[in-house]
Amino acid sequence: MKRILTGLADIVFPPRCLTCEESLDNKNAPFCPACFSQIHFLQSPLCSCCGIPFAGADTDNHLCGDCAVSKPIFSVARSIGKYETTLLEAIHRFKYNRNIHIGEILGKLMAEFEYSDFAISDYSLIMPVPLHPKKLRQRGFNQSVILAREISKLFQLTLDFLTLRRHTYTEAQINLGRKEREANVSGVFSVTDSEKIHGQKIILVDDVYTSGSTAKECTRVLMHSNADSVAILTIARAVQ
Ligand SMILES: [Zn+2]
Ligand SMILES: [Zn+2]
Repeated sequence: MKRILTGLADIVFPPRCLTCEESLDNKNAPFCPACFSQIHFLQSPLCSCCGIPFAGADTDNHLCGDCAVSKPIFSVARSIGKYETTLLEAIHRFKYNRNIHIGEILGKLMAEFEYSDFAISDYSLIMPVPLHPKKLRQRGFNQSVILAREISKLFQLTLDFLTLRRHTYTEAQINLGRKEREANVSGVFSVTDSEKIHGQKIILVDDVYTSGSTAKECTRVLMHSNADSVAILTIARAVQ
């Protein structure tokens, strides 16, 4: 019965590419071949810590210059691909057009992607980067919760979206430089119950990794509550 209904739905609402809305020949693919081919997936060689990709293929993962000078407090940061073209468009449609369906598919992609030197199954707890309640009311949902929920389902990983809080409202970081971003998020997160964090190997989920300032500040607060380790997982990564 379910299969008949799904078949009917495909006729009435043919599956379409998430970004350009072309109808899809392969109804299990999220993107049409043209949009898919524009995704720059992040694979080795990349920074063993922050995940920035290196040009050229004749090297293994190693620390980038920035991480060698000042190693981030998180253990590793990984993303599916560069924040451009198809992934950028999909994230914008998800966040700003409030298309939750796209977010659910992006969350599944995050769960299924094979990351270099990072395995979701090594972790014990998954947490989204929290939104301030005011931002949550404006947007109607926390995009990182949607993503983290899909990953937690596939890996049967405990999802905790309550213990880490954003108690201070901050302006969007979009036009800020690295130092300004760090100042903008400093002290805005807190943990409501340290017991839930103690000893956990945590995956912190966000949509985009830009300067890493949000990821680092959340990690600082979680490590202060005696997390074992914190990894950062995002759909996309800005690469200058
Ligand atoms: Zn397309
Ligand atoms: Zn790095």
